[in-house]
Amino acid sequence: MDRAISQAVFDRAQSLMPGGVNSPVRSFRALGIPPLLASHGQGPFIYDLDGNRFIDYLMCWGANILGHAHPELVQAITEASRRGTGFGLSTEVECELAEIVKEAFPSIDLLRLVNSGTEAVMSAVRLARGYTGRDKIIAFEGCYHGHSDGLLTRAGSGLITFAIPSSAGVPDVFTAYTLLARYNDLDSVEHLCRVRGDQIAAILVEPVAGNMGVVPPEPGFLPGLRGICDRTGSLLIFDEVITGFRIAWGGAQQKYGVQADLTTLGKIIGGGLPVGAFGGRQDIMEQLAPVGEVYQAGTLSGNPVVASAGKTALEILQRLDPYDSLAAMTTRLTDGLAEAAARAEVPLQIGQVGSMFTLFFADNPVTDYAAAKAASGKSYARFAEAMLNKGILMPPSPWEAGFVGVAHTEEEISATIAHAVEMFTNAEFVNEELGVGPLPSRA
Ligand SMILES: *Cc1c(COP(=O)(O)O)cnc(C)c1O
Repeated sequence: MDRAISQAVFDRAQSLMPGGVNSPVRSFRALGIPPLLASHGQGPFIYDLDGNRFIDYLMCWGANILGHAHPELVQAITEASRRGTGFGLSTEVECELAEIVKEAFPSIDLLRLVNSGTEAVMSAVRLARGYTGRDKIIAFEGCYHGHSDGLLTRAGSGLITFAIPSSAGVPDVFTAYTLLARYNDLDSVEHLCRVRGDQIAAILVEPVAGNMGVVPPEPGFLPGLRGICDRTGSLLIFDEVITGFRIAWGGAQQKYGVQADLTTLGKIIGGGLPVGAFGGRQDIMEQLAPVGEVYQAGTLSGNPVVASAGKTALEILQRLDPYDSLAAMTTRLTDGLAEAAARAEVPLQIGQVGSMFTLFFADNPVTDYAAAKAASGKSYARFAEAMLNKGILMPPSPWEAGFVGVAHTEEEISATIAHAVEMFTNAEFVNEELGVGPLPSRA
């Protein structure tokens, strides 16, 4: 596969942007290979600058559930931009998008549009603090909520798991208000609450973890969090930036039947343009300026081109109601990959909820961050590299979710499985590249 032009442009990019990228994972460093530079996309396919075609399972980190360049979406964006690209004033289309979101999420009485998921979570946390008059929050190891200071955390040591910064440039005091619990471990949450319950403004969680690879919530975990919040007066914040309109029309709240006090959204609701949103109960949301005392603002928030794209994307999704068929198609893919791996005795675990999936090269099912971290990133890297060379784009990091969208067809799924079968039946590749052998049967 010739990628000379991509390489030349990436060289140029490296003289212009740190690491040649505007967001770190795009560098493909986690795979140790040169990155894919996108030229254009069509349906389930993405094309690089050299004209190579790839089946795309990244889909703009899940934002493009309709596939690339959906004609109706392109038309909506074109028409909206002809009317003006933004006014810094309110427009009607913001209401139209907000109405759809509100209808999909019964826990949302009022919402506010912002420009990224990072902003949505940052603002929701501030609002929770303003509403409760408490300063601390509980978050979970391995969940990602954007790159705001207080949430760039990892577990420190000690009896109470105070988070410490996971990035240079974040003062300890900024993360001292974040307590870290273990995903799928209610006891770890109870422990923090026993000691600090009256100081905790909110429990913030990805209801389906999608940023340590896909780790589903175990039965009882989300209802348990709801119960703890009800008991302690903390707010429950579901970060549904990935799961909203992805695993069900009404996100994880619909799928698992647990309502959040505040919900953050992003990705899909912008129809592929930059967006975020947060919303929830009226009495909480009315603490926001200009009604209440919690300040939050944005020059381009609710931008009419973005809102038109988001509204159109959600209308198409509502019309298609693709969730059952997306889940079925994704299961066909993950079953196919799991079968191929099992036949070759490659230890592969699938994390999947609906159309989100992760391939963990691990011996046992992955239910928490420790297990996700212990999966072989090296095996995944060689797998993803080999897939890329066959024209298939898997997420460029072992701990990022892959996505199937409405543009994928049986043909792409079958082709993907066929390449995996070929790869896993190549004993030399399995032993030397994946590094998961040699198994007795192969020795
Ligand atoms: C992507 C993501 C974010 C951050 O959204 P950005 O738009 O990248 O700032 C927050 N939370 C979750 C769960 C995400 O997956």
